[in-house]
Amino acid sequence: MSLADIHARIGVACENAGRDPGEVELIAVSKVQPEERVVAILDEGHRVFGENKVQEAAGKWPALRERYANVKLHLIGPLQTNKARQAMALADAIQTVDRPKLARTLARIAQETGACPDVFIQVNTGEEPQKAGILPAEADAFIAEVRALDLPLKGLMCIPPVDEEASLHFALLAKIAARNGLAGLSMGMSSDFEKAISFGATHIRVGSAIFGARVPG
Ligand SMILES: *Cc1c(COP(=O)(O)O)cnc(C)c1O
Repeated sequence: MSLADIHARIGVACENAGRDPGEVELIAVSKVQPEERVVAILDEGHRVFGENKVQEAAGKWPALRERYANVKLHLIGPLQTNKARQAMALADAIQTVDRPKLARTLARIAQETGACPDVFIQVNTGEEPQKAGILPAEADAFIAEVRALDLPLKGLMCIPPVDEEASLHFALLAKIAARNGLAGLSMGMSSDFEKAISFGATHIRVGSAIFGARVPG
């Protein structure tokens, strides 16, 4: 599907929800995609991308940033504390802050370097044991902790369980954000971004709908 098609669908979803399309940032998830597909999207003028692995982002984006100005990179995959420094140097936003140790590490490095990417807290709305994210019951306290560390907290992020109705998870994330006065909501992927927009998504993470199926390996 072309980028223009995706923007048209975002436009319709916003109109149905009575929202301004300018409030919804499209993050093109470029993980595992061959470089020529990513370059094609850059050549169309798109600048906001998502990667889920620090190492993959490090191998790809410094060179692309030299060729294309104003690229914004969101890290959307789990982050180990020992990769925090590298992630902070690479990314404009880290969407997967989900535990105190990681938050404290980011804060310490931010103090030292004087710079910090935007931060989103990942919430494990489905309470799935294998999935990253702070549990919903612990979210309010963790949000307060991240704020106390002076990190530039912009919002919340979730990845709903594959086998459940995503709406319930989008609604839960929106509720936690609202009661904590957070504006940013990163939710919605290729299969459900219109639904996410109807629940207030400000950042949608769309991979395969833009780039085609991910080529493994
Ligand atoms: C891969 C990925 C996406 C994009 O998934 P698609 O279904 O291809 O749109 C979105 N969010 C996260 C966290 C991802 O890892």
